[in-house]
Amino acid sequence: ASQPLPKTMKGVIIEKTGGTEVLQYKTDLAVPEPKDGQILVKNDYVGINYIDTYFRTGLYPPPSYPYMLGREAEGTIVATGPDTPHGLKTGDRIVYLSEATYAEYTAAPAAKAIKIPSGIEPTIASAALLQGLTALTLIREAYHVQKGDWVLVHAAAGGVGLWLCQLLAAVGAKTIATASTPEKLELAKKAGAEVLINYSHEDVKAKVDEVTNKQGVAAVFDGVGKATFDLSLDCLARKGTVASFGNASGAVPPLAISRLGAKNAKVLRPTLFNYIATREEFEQYTNELFDFIVKDKMDVRVHKVYDLKDVATAHEDIEGRKTTGKLLLKP
Ligand code: NDP
Repeated sequence: ASQPLPKTMKGVIIEKTGGTEVLQYKTDLAVPEPKDGQILVKNDYVGINYIDTYFRTGLYPPPSYPYMLGREAEGTIVATGPDTPHGLKTGDRIVYLSEATYAEYTAAPAAKAIKIPSGIEPTIASAALLQGLTALTLIREAYHVQKGDWVLVHAAAGGVGLWLCQLLAAVGAKTIATASTPEKLELAKKAGAEVLINYSHEDVKAKVDEVTNKQGVAAVFDGVGKATFDLSLDCLARKGTVASFGNASGAVPPLAISRLGAKNAKVLRPTLFNYIATREEFEQYTNELFDFIVKDKMDVRVHKVYDLKDVATAHEDIEGRKTTGKLLLKP
């Protein structure tokens, strides 16, 4: 028989936006009840993503308070709501996307949960889901990367960055990687990048011109935002695409669309959610990601596993550019 569920749990909430001091670790939060279409998950590993810091600082305003951060986790289903589609049941080991994952238990939408295949370790799956799906949808949908394309990836040793390097290598593109330290560039190289540029002191545009024979790159995947956006446009080939998908250095200021005429450039600002809004899209991309992990032997790098109560240190580390790959929380 299954264990009775506790009434209270550990979790992290905020009651206002600000620095890491607004993160409140609690031990007496109510365990949520799964509603229609939801599952209750006991989380084993909770993924940290840069977006968590945007909600903490208020760059993306939380909808109400108290607000619980977190967008993904891995764990075991311990209860289901009245109507749980997609064949999920109590006892299943899953990865999922949801809000409010910085906790022991999360009531998550079944539509964004999927069983972990037997060939993949749960820790690997937990570290892969959100950032892997982001990279995969970027190279398929934001700009469908072709074999032989030159592509520029900023912050290439970050969570999404290392995924981009590996997936781009797997599809036969040639990656130019930027990062702020030699150690980070070395990781990008191991992940498959061909050209390495330290953007804290090297001339990125000159190096891109040199390796592409002054043609520029077919696409730039830019999660850095404010600090790199103009550079990204400058490095494009004629008819190239800048996918501006994040704001690690701050939000990109408004853009005069007349600037795109110089190269007939395309600029888009994609979100993962709008590429996987339907169950069909979510399953298709997640299964494809699992296939890449198994068949192409993707190296899913975990930077560090932090205890849930040390969440402030984890936020300081990712915002302080001290991390590479995935940060996980252990509730
Ligand atoms: P990362 O692990 O990539 O961490 C951010 C990295 O950005 C740092 O390691 C750092 O690398 C670089 N960076 C450059 N300038 C700054 C700065 N001023 N402050 C802090 N970091 C800086 O994080 P994630 O992989 O979680 O996310 C990467 C980006 O992708 C984020 O912008 C995030 O919002 C975005 N994202 C967007 C999604 C979407 O749906 N649109 C989904 C998932 C992520 P370095 O030291 O090498 O410069």
